Amino acid sequence: MIDANLFGALRAGFPADLDGIAVDVADAGAPLRYTWRDLERGSAMLANLLASLDLPPFSRIAVQTDKSVEALMLYLAVLRAGHVYLPLNNAYQTAEIEYFIGNAEPAVFVCAPRSFGRLSTLAFQRGVGHVFTLGDDRTGTLLDRAAFHADTHEPVPRAAGDLAAILYTSGTTGRSKGAMLTHGNLLSNARVLKDFWGWTTGDVLIHALPIFHVHGLFVATHGALLNGSPMIWFARFDPKAVVARLPDATVFMGVPTLYVRMLAEPALTREACARMRLFVSGSAPLLIETFEAWRGRTGHTILERYGMSETVMLTSNPYRPESARRGGTVGPPLPGVELRVRDDKGRPLPAGEIGGIEVKGPNVFKGYWRMPEKTADEFTTDLFFKTGDVGRIDEDGYVTIVGRSKDLVITGGYNVYPAEVEGVINELPGVAESAVVGVPHPDFGEGVVAVVVPRPGAAVDGAAIVAALKTRIANFKVPKQVFVEPELPRNAMGKVQKNLLRDRYGSLFAGR
Ligand code: AMP
Repeated sequence: MIDANLFGALRAGFPADLDGIAVDVADAGAPLRYTWRDLERGSAMLANLLASLDLPPFSRIAVQTDKSVEALMLYLAVLRAGHVYLPLNNAYQTAEIEYFIGNAEPAVFVCAPRSFGRLSTLAFQRGVGHVFTLGDDRTGTLLDRAAFHADTHEPVPRAAGDLAAILYTSGTTGRSKGAMLTHGNLLSNARVLKDFWGWTTGDVLIHALPIFHVHGLFVATHGALLNGSPMIWFARFDPKAVVARLPDATVFMGVPTLYVRMLAEPALTREACARMRLFVSGSAPLLIETFEAWRGRTGHTILERYGMSETVMLTSNPYRPESARRGGTVGPPLPGVELRVRDDKGRPLPAGEIGGIEVKGPNVFKGYWRMPEKTADEFTTDLFFKTGDVGRIDEDGYVTIVGRSKDLVITGGYNVYPAEVEGVINELPGVAESAVVGVPHPDFGEGVVAVVVPRPGAAVDGAAIVAALKTRIANFKVPKQVFVEPELPRNAMGKVQKNLLRDRYGSLFAGR
């Protein structure tokens, strides 16, 4: 077997001088820097700790912690040890975690120290063998235990088709699906992006994204590690602080919300961006106004790309020439990616016509964890993955996303499936039914709004529903506003006409 362990390839990208700075934590309050040797040694100790637990190969290691460099080392350690990394959004609440643990059956669960009381019992009851804590200030039992282990470790050989990570996506029917990504999926995509985006000696990445999602964990981190480029690391995104560090950096990756917030900073100027080489946006549509405002203010054209948990990156606007980057489009397919648009009967559509986007390539995932039927449904007979996104390809090969066939709201770069939120609302006392939609929001792209119909005679209060939801689901899924109405608009087939609700509340957040 040719060893294709992703860690080996990332490690090969580290610079020869391991004592150089790999990560400069910008918001730790005091100087906090990690060398390449720290990443190497820290991930080795954690990998040795995992090895000492005698877990079966490909054990799932579920992680719900705050962002920290040690959490990044843990990801690297899981790769080294040949297990499967399972990052969980740190906004997920107990009931959501319970589902993920039940579904993925992890052998190890690592949580924030503050969640230990709440989540450890649940994890042990569900058969998880080991629960560790990891704080964002280098505290917790995980590091305490790792400190007893050797700081050298030989990565476990893995084939390209072996599982490296599972990323849970929200399910359209309310159930999340675990997208299974292999070492080969992640490495092939990382290599393509390294070349395509012109990663070069001297690059410095500002890393201000969460590391439980494809964008921050894979696209940003792999780029920097594979290229041996230091990162300026923000545990939390703070627009003022990030803008203040732009003069030290060359690459920035963000979701559109981050760009909107940075534009509100007067310190964002051409001078501040003088050293910058590349601004990348993705995970949600970048408004053309933001694209243009950014160019006006900084002189840089944001490069928009498109991808998803199941496929990593699929398309990208060109790197060179910068003038070839087109606002409102996500660019042509990346090298190695086949992308086509077909109608709902599976007929290929000519350039410019709108249909379902389907993709194939070495980056496309292996399937949904323990959901063979769902996986089969989402692939065509000739093995293209149906992304669920609706779009068109123009004559020059540029792809434009126009909507989503799956009923999905993207708020601040996070996906919210209305069906899931509706399911939780409908279980609240006094609620007969509900409809959740996304409407334009100047800061988040889309804001979640719910319309709730009370049971006859029941008194239902929108603010009380919001409060109840906050204890049940991640905050980003909670509607910003809940409207109580006597009935939902429906079409002749009885389907809720969400388009009418979107129109009704379309200007709710305008001008905020
Ligand atoms: P996730 O799996 O959380 O990364 O979400 C993937 C979804 O985000 C895709 O299926 C698209 O609907 C959406 N998405 C990602 N990038 C873009 C983009 N540049 N423009 C529009 N939608 C995007």
